[in-house]
Amino acid sequence: MPVRFSDPIWQKPRTATAFQSLFPAGRCVDVVIVGGGIMGLSTALHAARFGLAVQVLEAGEIGNGASGLNGGQVIPGLKYDPDWLLEHFGLERGEALVNFAASTADTVFELIRDERLAVPFVRNGWIQAAHTETALKASANRDRQWRARGADVRLLSGTEIATMTGAQGYLGGLLDRRAGAIDPLAYTSELARVAAAAGVKIAERQNVMQISKNAGIWHVSTESGAELKAKAIVLATNAYTGGLLPGLAETIVPLHSFQIATAPLSSNLAAAILPEGQAVSDSRRILVYYRKSSDGRLVLGGRGRMALPNGPADWAHLERALLRLYPALSDVAIEKRWFGRVAMTPDHLPHIHEPEKGLLAVVGCQGRGIGLMTALGERIASYLSSGDTRQLPFPVSPIRPIPFHAFRQVGVAATIAWYRMLDAFER
Ligand SMILES: Cc1cc2nc3c(=O)[nH]c(=O)nc-3n(C[C@H](O)[C@H](O)[C@H](O)COP(=O)(O)OP(=O)(O)OC[C@H]3O[C@@H](n4cnc5c(N)ncnc54)[C@H](O)[C@@H]3O)c2cc1C
Repeated sequence: MPVRFSDPIWQKPRTATAFQSLFPAGRCVDVVIVGGGIMGLSTALHAARFGLAVQVLEAGEIGNGASGLNGGQVIPGLKYDPDWLLEHFGLERGEALVNFAASTADTVFELIRDERLAVPFVRNGWIQAAHTETALKASANRDRQWRARGADVRLLSGTEIATMTGAQGYLGGLLDRRAGAIDPLAYTSELARVAAAAGVKIAERQNVMQISKNAGIWHVSTESGAELKAKAIVLATNAYTGGLLPGLAETIVPLHSFQIATAPLSSNLAAAILPEGQAVSDSRRILVYYRKSSDGRLVLGGRGRMALPNGPADWAHLERALLRLYPALSDVAIEKRWFGRVAMTPDHLPHIHEPEKGLLAVVGCQGRGIGLMTALGERIASYLSSGDTRQLPFPVSPIRPIPFHAFRQVGVAATIAWYRMLDAFER
């Protein structure tokens, strides 16, 4: 992975091991999964539990992709609210999709509990903080729709949100108590550990270079010379998708999300900033998201430049956002800066493709993939085991490259500049 400057805060558990386990070349396994992030590992774990022989191949180390680099906010739901999903997908599929979307955070926290994953977490909710009257109305609408379905959400007044965040500038917001925050690298490492314990073979530093089909059997070869045969392949490469499957990389726009972490906060600051430990995203189009980490730092993320960063100056916009929210942090050092890639799709929904029988690809987490990819992995495993498409919450769609994909950097930069201007002027 071409990283120029990145120094993440998250740590693997001390007990984490390297994975170098490969099935013998002659054996035809049930599934080869390309990509050892949350999607690949959740699919692998559940597929093994269904009795399938599974091989995971990861180009780098487990957690090198977005799964080990993200903000750790476990938020249920999709970009769209229940009414939109029902209108768009129809009553039956829409209802199933709403229930799936509602369950994604539960899936993560139940996995942590049931598999005894060594993952630091809190489950005190997520705040979507409104900075304008328009955003507040959107929060009220979201609150109404989810509350009608019995979800544990509620609207926050300006006074409540000021107390709960300690931040300046919000008019109110939505508190979703189904959500929480985890250490994402520990979660990804622990998923790998339990998947391996369930019989999955995982091999790191196996960059898959080619896939092909011969007489109904898939053949997979890696840069370092491993050769595998499989009845099915799952491409779980998301924003790090390369050229393995023609056209797939052109269906997504990979964006950079940058993050900063302060030094551990003093007890006074820690008591004033997010005292109950909620995670927050604000309502701007170019949003920032933040939370406290288990070692007491404030971690804040947001959009970063499309080119690879060169040094700390490339995170300066996030430091300004941090001080706008929390002027009291002006003397607290920023100790860590890092970034990762997020896969966006034009319709802001994840896509499941099956261009040929036995070849599945899942892309497009829209920056909210911890719960989504964990839950989707379980469904993909169930589909692999049963062949029943009703297991898939999203319809299988054709691979449709985005027109003018090669010019995406220009388009994204122009859109961001426009959104920043709207964010600045909207009331
Ligand atoms: C900075 C940042 C902050 C985020 N914050 C949040 C958040 O707070 N909450 C949330 O829910 N989501 C967040 N996300 C999104 C979330 O991290 C992703 O949706 C999720 O991790 C995607 O998981 P994945 O397994 O699909 O992809 P990844 O974790 O990216 O895994 C893909 C893997 O495929 C591997 N790969 C690629 N090509 C090959 C190949 N040819 N051979 C072998 N392996 C290959 C890569 O090395 C990589 O490890 C954030 C993302 C980023 C980058």
